[in-house]
Amino acid sequence: MMSSQVSQASYRGRFAPSPTGLLHAGSLTTAVGSYLEARVRGGEWLLRMEDLDPPREVAGAASAILQTLEALGFEWDGEVVYQSRRHELYRAALEQLIRAGLAYGCACTRKEIAAQARRGVDGFVYPGTCRNGCPPGRSGRAWRLRVPPGETVFVDRLQGEYRQDLERDIGDFVLLRADGFWAYQLAVVVDDAAQGVTDIVRGADLLVSTPRQIAVQRALGVATPSYCHLPLMVNAAGEKLSKQTLAPAIAPAAAAVELRRALIRLGQVSPPECGSLAELWSWARDNWSLERVPAGPVAV
Ligand code: GLU
Repeated sequence: MMSSQVSQASYRGRFAPSPTGLLHAGSLTTAVGSYLEARVRGGEWLLRMEDLDPPREVAGAASAILQTLEALGFEWDGEVVYQSRRHELYRAALEQLIRAGLAYGCACTRKEIAAQARRGVDGFVYPGTCRNGCPPGRSGRAWRLRVPPGETVFVDRLQGEYRQDLERDIGDFVLLRADGFWAYQLAVVVDDAAQGVTDIVRGADLLVSTPRQIAVQRALGVATPSYCHLPLMVNAAGEKLSKQTLAPAIAPAAAAVELRRALIRLGQVSPPECGSLAELWSWARDNWSLERVPAGPVAV
């Protein structure tokens, strides 16, 4: 079982950006919240590059993200971990799930699913076509997790109780994609468990994914960390800041201004106005309060 080798720090947090673009106000704010919560709790803070999806990645983004974080004064513990170098771990986890009868091969194409499925809370709900075996003459292209019946419930430190019926709202979801790439939902759970992460502080866009991750944790027999989903950062049109909505990249030269803005977005009251970067971090560590962080979307 995966769980046996993991040593548990009392608090171990992490930031896990995908190098699909540069750091912007949304991802920077998440990094600041996750970092301060870890440091104020006396914990460790790891950095993991989620470079699992080469078709969506932007050349040079991983190193640019690291340089920006460094210029902003973040100090992470240990080496940066790259998911692209951890395929063996994901393979071992998938094999464990297959042996336990919890994962199965699926022959369906996107087109077939789109033709039969209804929409759930995050795209189409897989209709379970291959749950009891692929149709005659077809073989599995992707691997899916057999989701448990009933509601998956957890209490988020900021968003409160969150429940989802995985069978009804999501369906059996993909662990290994038909194109051969590992799915985020599997890799994130395997890595958080392998790295002994106890506390996940990340953006609220991932709230909808958390029940899937809890289902993978239970299927693998690893612990469920504590979750805290920070408010979504949105633009004037109410859209999530992202490369797709053309959020501007953070300029390392404006580090102190950017850090101060992130603190304000996180509801922290009056960070010093003309402090240096070091003064701002020191203020932030002394004054950080998760209770002040708003749960709802913040307009940037
Ligand atoms: N790599 C994911 C993203 O950038 C975040 C994963 C996580 O924090 O669980 O959206």
